[in-house]
Amino acid sequence: MPDPAFDPAAARDAILARIAQAAREAGRDPADITLTAVSKQQSRQAVSAILGCGQRVFGENRVQEAIERWGGRRSGLELRLIGPLQTNKVRLAISFFDAIETLDRVRLAEEIAREVQHSGRCPKLLVQVNTGEEPQKSGLAPHEVDVFLARVRGDHGLEIAGLMCLPPVGEPAAPHFALLAKIARRNGLSELSMGMSDDFETAVRLGATHLRIGTALFGPRLTPRQKLSIEGG
Ligand SMILES: *Cc1c(COP(=O)(O)O)cnc(C)c1O
Repeated sequence: MPDPAFDPAAARDAILARIAQAAREAGRDPADITLTAVSKQQSRQAVSAILGCGQRVFGENRVQEAIERWGGRRSGLELRLIGPLQTNKVRLAISFFDAIETLDRVRLAEEIAREVQHSGRCPKLLVQVNTGEEPQKSGLAPHEVDVFLARVRGDHGLEIAGLMCLPPVGEPAAPHFALLAKIARRNGLSELSMGMSDDFETAVRLGATHLRIGTALFGPRLTPRQKLSIEGG
């Protein structure tokens, strides 16, 4: 079970201070870096505590879970999809999220373009890059990104805000962040979603604009059974 003494508000203050420090050391303005609180698999109580501190940007990796959690209380929030998107959920995702960080194939771009046209609503779009070229992970291989961007911008008229990556577990993240930043630079993209609980300062140093932080902010993620027991059904 999670540690009952864990205090998300204090954790958030400490993380924001570390982000600001890392930004200053890198000669960056801390205001250019957004903390995305990754609320997937967290209890209602932990999420309420973070909301209570003024946190407004949240990341979820599943469309359905996000809608269940946030469906009735959207006002003033920015909700970002950071997990894989299936084409049959595109309509729902476009109607719900403010940003989709996991555009990773032409078929999905086609579906998104169609739905944007149809609904008139266009979330911010980021392309996911599989910087470690791991077979089990989604995202484009680094060498595919330039052609993909030209295609979705040209053929599908989609505006792309930036890139996202999830470096391989157990490897130094810095080379992956540096690679993502380099691909973004040569494609004129300004948003870089990279850096999580264990490596966000490195990400700040290498140009991250959005940090996706879960466990360092909320404590460990819960199993469905733990979640139910904490929330009281
Ligand atoms: C879960 C998740 C995170 C947060 O990871 P932590 O290590 O808990 O900070 C960030 N990005 C993605 C894509 C995730 O799925």
